[in-house]
Amino acid sequence: MGQYKMVRAPWHPNSYGNGCVPEHRLIAEKAIGKLLPARAVVHHINGNQKDNRNVNLVVCQDEVYHNLLHRRTESFKATGNPDKRFCAKCSSWLLQDKFLSNRGYCIDCGKLYGLKRYYADHESTLIKARKSRLSRQAAIKQYLAENRTRVNAYARDWRGRNSDKVREKNQNYYHKDIEASRERNHAAYLKNREIRIEYQKAYYAQNAERIREYQRQYRLKKKMETNNG
Ligand SMILES: [Zn+2]
Ligand SMILES: [Zn+2]
Repeated sequence: MGQYKMVRAPWHPNSYGNGCVPEHRLIAEKAIGKLLPARAVVHHINGNQKDNRNVNLVVCQDEVYHNLLHRRTESFKATGNPDKRFCAKCSSWLLQDKFLSNRGYCIDCGKLYGLKRYYADHESTLIKARKSRLSRQAAIKQYLAENRTRVNAYARDWRGRNSDKVREKNQNYYHKDIEASRERNHAAYLKNREIRIEYQKAYYAQNAERIREYQRQYRLKKKMETNNG
């Protein structure tokens, strides 16, 4: 508040500790004929905070309205249109519909900012993963170096347990198993085929008359078709 002109008025109910009051507030109070409400703010139209002529002062109901005046004034100075807002990220004046409320930057910058943040997170995750993998590899290397004889002994033992003999045994078992299952499947197939043939024979015996009649009708129909065609 250093720029404001102060005047001594110890009698004033809202005077500061040193007994002074900002001159522009006093002038505004004289103009409206009463004390300013507690949250009221006095605005300088031309921006010069020492220019306390009546014509240069506007009484605002609160700081929100005062900020709105400042924003509209700056927008008008910069672009000729008071309805624009300043985006702090791309440093440009844009219409209100390019902003989400309560954001200091425009929607496009917001999207870009979100993307940047997303990729930064992604990158840091990758770096972390790589670091942990490196540290895991280092730990394994160190373990191998410290336990060389024990590891070699274990490897020898493992190879011994999985020798050719053992492998052969497993393979034989596997092949026998497959052969057996194949035989089982073939037997089932043959059995099913016999049943199917018997069933067909029985059906034909029971419905011989009907089937012959159907075949006769079918031949007749074919003949008619070839004659007509
Ligand atoms: Zn102001
Ligand atoms: Zn922007």
